[in-house]
Amino acid sequence: MKKYNFNAGPSILPREVIEATAQACLDFNGSGLSLMEISHRAKDFQPVVDETVALFKELLNIPEGYSVIFLGGGASLEFCMIPYNFLEKKAAYLNTGVWATKAEKEAKLFGEVVEVASSKDKNFTYIPKNFEIPADADYLHITTNNTIYGTELREDIDSPIPVIADMSSDIFSRPIDVSKYGMIYGGAQKNLSMAGVTFVIVKDELLGKVSRQIPTMLNYQTHVSKGSMFNTPPVVPIYCALQNLKWIKAQGGVEAMAKRAQERADLLYAEIDRNKLFVGTAEKDSRSLMNITFVLKDEYKDLEAEFLAFATSKGMVGVKGHRDVGGFRASCYNAMSVEGVKALIACMQEFEAAH
Ligand SMILES: *Cc1c(COP(=O)(O)O)cnc(C)c1O
Repeated sequence: MKKYNFNAGPSILPREVIEATAQACLDFNGSGLSLMEISHRAKDFQPVVDETVALFKELLNIPEGYSVIFLGGGASLEFCMIPYNFLEKKAAYLNTGVWATKAEKEAKLFGEVVEVASSKDKNFTYIPKNFEIPADADYLHITTNNTIYGTELREDIDSPIPVIADMSSDIFSRPIDVSKYGMIYGGAQKNLSMAGVTFVIVKDELLGKVSRQIPTMLNYQTHVSKGSMFNTPPVVPIYCALQNLKWIKAQGGVEAMAKRAQERADLLYAEIDRNKLFVGTAEKDSRSLMNITFVLKDEYKDLEAEFLAFATSKGMVGVKGHRDVGGFRASCYNAMSVEGVKALIACMQEFEAAH
């Protein structure tokens, strides 16, 4: 039976990306050696990093004056590296979920934190609007896609201070105006690569401004100045990211990804809104195109385990919702086909007919 992978992260990747990475793990560039057993300083590995950076710049249309680096530690390590490198006195945070809250918590170790708005009052089911950004803060931190709650901020906001965005789960899903950001970062395992690498796109002029001492490995300047080669980078995940970026480019780039994401989401949300059993959890104008969250209506709540078992028996993988939301979550990252979403919809309709 065909399986459809709706896992929230680590998550679906195009089959050919996995195959190309697996092949390089067996024999890198016909060298007879595995990608796992060569030096990151080998002359044929440097082009992998260079090409990955070049494709980041090309696909996201990154202007001059920004660096792209690859780090370890996940998006979670960035939560402390950001205030370490950028918070002199005060930082602003938009609280839209668990990840945003974790980022904010780390910043409080370094200085004053202003929470510009929060959707915690309604279990993060919406993206706050019309919040005021303090012009005297060093930066504003946002989370563009809230993987757990299925909400997404899809516009590049105007801000008087640098915007730092966690785009772990929606990077490369749409065109972005990078010039409106001071930094964009994320773990790779949602929409870019396998787990193990973190990407950072940072505006060079923002670096080196805080007065505190920064430990070498936690200083962005270290990694920018060495082109991600200060220490051994996660070579296999970077290689995998490169294969995926090539795939995205071959599909038509981020414009094509955005079109497909819209198509998938339109189909699935229409079914959630139509089906008598289900209801979406996110407010309509905040709905994510990447993580689509829904629950059974109150009168059908006792069918939850049954629907999950039914969907699983039909090949749906990873549709169980996060414990903070309950119900179901269909993560529809770049590699998810429209066919996969249609298969899930067929499941929902068959289950409805039986009840
Ligand atoms: C998964 C996720 C994280 C955490 O990523 P790690 O790489 O596991 O640290 C942070 N932010 C968002 C939006 C996420 O989806």
